Amino acid sequence: MISQVIRLLPDSVANQIAAGEVVQRPASVVKELVENSIDAFAKSIKIYVKDAGKTLIQVVDDGIGMSEVDARMAFERHATSKISSADDLFAISTFGFRGEALASIASVAQVEMITRREEDEVGTRVDIHGSKFIKQESLVCAKGTTISVKNLFFNIPARRRFLKSDAIEFRHIVDEFIRVALSHPEVSFLLVHNQSEVYNLTATTLKQRIVHLFGKNISTDLLDVSVDTSIVSIQGFIGKPESAKKKNNYQFLFVNNRYFRHPFLYRVILNAYGNLLLPETTPSYFIYFSCDPKFIDVNIHPTKTEIKFEDERAVAQILEATVRQTLGNTNILPNIEFNNESAITLPFNDEKKMIKPPSIKINPDYNPFEPKQKTVQWKNFFEPEHIVEKREQVQIAESLSVESEKQANDIIQLHQRFLLVTVKSGLMVIDQHRAHFRVLYEMLINKYELGSIATERLIFPEILELDQKQFLFIKDLLPHLQRLGFAIQMTDEKKLIIEEIPSFWSDYQLATVFENFFNQYEELEKLPDASSLDFLLIPLAKSIAVKNGKPLNEEERQRLFDELFATSNPQYAPDGKLIFYIIPVNEFEKKF
Ligand code: ADP
Ligand code: MG
Repeated sequence: MISQVIRLLPDSVANQIAAGEVVQRPASVVKELVENSIDAFAKSIKIYVKDAGKTLIQVVDDGIGMSEVDARMAFERHATSKISSADDLFAISTFGFRGEALASIASVAQVEMITRREEDEVGTRVDIHGSKFIKQESLVCAKGTTISVKNLFFNIPARRRFLKSDAIEFRHIVDEFIRVALSHPEVSFLLVHNQSEVYNLTATTLKQRIVHLFGKNISTDLLDVSVDTSIVSIQGFIGKPESAKKKNNYQFLFVNNRYFRHPFLYRVILNAYGNLLLPETTPSYFIYFSCDPKFIDVNIHPTKTEIKFEDERAVAQILEATVRQTLGNTNILPNIEFNNESAITLPFNDEKKMIKPPSIKINPDYNPFEPKQKTVQWKNFFEPEHIVEKREQVQIAESLSVESEKQANDIIQLHQRFLLVTVKSGLMVIDQHRAHFRVLYEMLINKYELGSIATERLIFPEILELDQKQFLFIKDLLPHLQRLGFAIQMTDEKKLIIEEIPSFWSDYQLATVFENFFNQYEELEKLPDASSLDFLLIPLAKSIAVKNGKPLNEEERQRLFDELFATSNPQYAPDGKLIFYIIPVNEFEKKF
């Protein structure tokens, strides 16, 4: 069999390709493999992950597959079926185009590929471990390609150690998954982590895909955007201004069905909303640009997702006008005047001002979901066994970087409520309760997603009596409660019989937390984008978070600080309240 499809990339092109590493973490592998599946016209893509991808990442597709020769060649550096000249680099609309992903992945993992084209009777299997060809053999298999990447960085222990906790690495995988799932609603996707199904998305419309990913509440918050010009066409959805929120994280731009980041266009969108937004809130948006690929400068750095439009100003103006028009068309804002000044001075989403975390110390080997940890009570959250061993300097916004490597003792507790940390630009003041609230909330989400919550059977089931509203509320949330580790019976007389609870819960009053669910539910309902899970997690995390007034020892302070800055949003608690602020040095100088 002769390869018809794959060509070797000429050196001239290879040299144009920015150097860099394709594989930084398990999520990069997921991204590259899934993009390849999409390029291979797969209609169904299944992703199986073990231990956040550290042990296994397996992507199963039903795409066009590869011939025996191509299967072997796919692992050669600069082997690609997608490019044959330098010009192609700028006209490419498929995801991958460097011909180095598989080669790079196979150089740092044990890779096994099984593939078959429709027209071939038998398929082929290729095993490559750390760039070393192990074997190739024929076998009977389904049409399409299955690539299993095992023991990532097995041959580079330093990089393996550098990986973050499973929770964090898995969150990166989910981020990549969501981006690609949003780019291709016509493809069905399955994501399974450690045997539990995280997402199972059927092929559908874009709007339904968004709903499947983010919950049905979001659909009523979205407005259609649609415009077609000679330069670019824009389709998608933007959130109603009143549904904008502080901790909004549903902001996506795509070009020719590829996710990209573009801080300037983010600002253009915010500007188009103008004063329809409450201060410091951002709307959701899912905006899809299509244009001739030759008008886009694809940054060919292996991991960057940034691109440049040839006529960035024109694109920005079209985008701004479209968003304004959409908001106007729906009578949210009648008679909007086109405003040519771009509000680059908006206080939010301004990269210069964006808060980035100070240096973070993380124990890369710490895995909160390991069985041995399961018995750890949450009230003992600050146990010495958690002492962070390893430090990692994360390069961050200059003004915020912590002055020097922190030693435990460095963090002062003030009035048993505030943690004080010196940072380059001044003094950081952290509210301990809100900080812990954020940390626990994210840990709960992770545990929930992973379905890894240890449970405990109550010897005497606890019985709570409910009114109709409460009964319906719990009924709606029952699946979430079960996944959180509660086993609950609901009787016709509107009684809740709680038979099993999550083990971390055993020392907290059940009645109180259920009361909190009900008490806070109306308040949370006002948050337009709180997910139904948030109705449980926010009160749950809040009620077990360390209270103000509790003395924390050195290790506890250090650990809380470290954990806070390992969360996705260290600045705000899940209920939107500020966690920390920085008193600038010049405020002190003024006093003297
Ligand atoms: P690139 O995607 O940049 O071309 P990769 O190293 O990711 O480079 O893949 C090399 C080649 O292997 C691709 O060009 C494609 O021909 C083939 N290939 C990789 N994954 C798949 C897949 N899932 N199905 C079919 N062909 C694939
Ligand atoms: Mg590729």
